[in-house]
Amino acid sequence: MRVVVVGGDAAGMTAASVVERRRDDVEIVVVERGPYTSYSMCGIPYHVAGWIDDADALVSRTPEDFRARGMTVHMRTEAVAIDAGAGSVTVRDLETGQEHDEPYDALLYATGAHPVVPDLPGIAEHGYVVHTLDEGERLRRALDRRDDVRTVAIVGAGYIGIEIAEALVERDITTHLIDRSPHVMRTMDVDMAERLEQIMADFGIRLHLGEELTELGTEGGRCRQVVTDAGCYDADLLVLAMGGTPNVALAADAGCELGPSGALVVDPRMRTTVDGIWAAGDVVESRDLVAGKRVNVQLGTHANKQGKVAGVDIAAQPGDGDATFPGVVGTAVTKLCAWEVARVGLTEREAREEGIEHAAVSFTGTATAGYMPDPGVVHVKMLAERGTGRVLGAQLLGTGNVAKRIDVAAVWCQLGVRVQDAQFLDLSYAPPFGGVWDLMLVAARKLTTKLGLSPQL
Ligand SMILES: Cc1cc2nc3c(=O)[nH]c(=O)nc-3n(C[C@H](O)[C@H](O)[C@H](O)COP(=O)(O)OP(=O)(O)OC[C@H]3O[C@@H](n4cnc5c(N)ncnc54)[C@H](O)[C@@H]3O)c2cc1C
Repeated sequence: MRVVVVGGDAAGMTAASVVERRRDDVEIVVVERGPYTSYSMCGIPYHVAGWIDDADALVSRTPEDFRARGMTVHMRTEAVAIDAGAGSVTVRDLETGQEHDEPYDALLYATGAHPVVPDLPGIAEHGYVVHTLDEGERLRRALDRRDDVRTVAIVGAGYIGIEIAEALVERDITTHLIDRSPHVMRTMDVDMAERLEQIMADFGIRLHLGEELTELGTEGGRCRQVVTDAGCYDADLLVLAMGGTPNVALAADAGCELGPSGALVVDPRMRTTVDGIWAAGDVVESRDLVAGKRVNVQLGTHANKQGKVAGVDIAAQPGDGDATFPGVVGTAVTKLCAWEVARVGLTEREAREEGIEHAAVSFTGTATAGYMPDPGVVHVKMLAERGTGRVLGAQLLGTGNVAKRIDVAAVWCQLGVRVQDAQFLDLSYAPPFGGVWDLMLVAARKLTTKLGLSPQL
């Protein structure tokens, strides 16, 4: 059996490793366009900040590591066409330009996503993106080398834009954060986003919301200004963090079906609609377990799990058990200096769009027991469905223990736990981590009361 993997990062190399461990009668060929395999894109903002000096620390396994396990790994080699009928991928060596075909019995398509770059003069040349490790290194080198970079503009106020903003604050660089949306973090409700905006402003980040990038002003071959439809800001460097588009082209040309999000349709075993082709990671749609619809969520946590499922299915022999990917609930966490920001499930806006009757509670508590020194603060918002009490989502913004708490809500969302049942759950307690009634239990209790469910405590 011959397995070809296109894309040598999270989803691709997880799948390749699973196949290699499970079968010794399989030839595995990996095709990767860039210079790295198995690297952590998630660590790029911390490399840019200077906390992780050596980009190689973000590489968990090199091409040599995989070759030592018997795989053939073609680096700086791009897949350019798939012939699903013949079971073959045409690949091009990016250094020599030479092409050859790689026949396959099973193809794993794990090409990730490419950053959105607006079609404006000078952007391709002067805009920095951070979607691969070498792109992250390029930004870091520019900040290290050029002592004239005092002001940076970031376009895109999602979690990547916020993480890069934190990196720039750490480096004492004046930062403009621009987004066409009226608020940061579209994955949160406006009331929570407004709190975050205040925190960002307190850190000196200059927010320009509801503004669209229209022009880049250059002088002497360098970025000097960014222009929006509402203003003009000095900027020695421009970072684009406008989201990613799934790299579906080759698979789509080979006949794989695309869903409404523009990503590939796969079944729970990560099989595409074309025989012999599996797909995993940023390039596929997943089932949203709260809303019950298909979504494209680009996160490393999903890419790794989906890669594992695809690998198990590709390597499966008669009698082997199944592995299936259940879906996602939109759990995400990030940080901005001392503040942690997290969300899961549906926001109120999304619940309304889905036509789900719900109630929400919002309150502020302390991150630790209130009597501890510097007990910190956590703003909590939680939603539950009217009638059933099913937890629909939560959003947290706080200075401590936020990740622990959002994971509790994530389990509730994924398993369909009801707030009236959640109130007495046996969550951990000690003063450095929270009050005796954890904030998640308090939220469940408040929602039970608000929804008129029993037992009322
Ligand atoms: C700055 C940043 C921070 C992030 N932080 C987090 C985080 O904290 N938590 C989290 O869960 N997720 C995070 N993510 C998202 C996460 O990194 C991605 O979801 C994950 O890497 C997706 O894995 P993948 O294997 O699907 O795609 P990728 O990691 O993008 O890998 C795809 C690979 O395919 C290669 N490729 C593409 N086309 C071809 C072709 N035609 N031929 C050959 N090779 C090709 C690419 O070069 C690339 O190496 C972050 C992303 C970024 C950019």
